[in-house]
Amino acid sequence: MEKGTYILLMNLKEPRKIKVGKLNIIDFQPGNYLYIGSAQRGFEARITRHLRKNKKLFWHIDYLLNEAEIKEIWIKEGEKIECETADRIKNCLPFSFYPIKGFGSSDCKCSSHLFYFPGRLADLGNLRKKLNFKKLEINEKF
Ligand SMILES: [Zn+2]
Repeated sequence: MEKGTYILLMNLKEPRKIKVGKLNIIDFQPGNYLYIGSAQRGFEARITRHLRKNKKLFWHIDYLLNEAEIKEIWIKEGEKIECETADRIKNCLPFSFYPIKGFGSSDCKCSSHLFYFPGRLADLGNLRKKLNFKKLEINEKF
């Protein structure tokens, strides 16, 4: 798999104020977060990088992953659809997602590629099916 779009589902145990790159300090509430990203090449390497600890901080998501834990990864092979996926998630009833303004969207027109989700991750199975993403076993080798 060379290119595709992915969604990281993360949990943050404690409230954290995190300075995210060039963004201001963001006050992260404990709970679950969804981040939408894509890679045009090196898709597997990108996912592996997200899972790796102690790396140089480069993307906005790197700063959050210093504190939050990845619980699930959803993937969709093929073209880059991260912006439309972010848009669909934002508007996906009956769920309520709260965008973290400017996060992960420096290079596009979206308000954000990161959403806070106040509910339980276990409740999001239907969302994954609606979006037609596949759940990646985190220990699975590509
Ligand atoms: Zn976007």
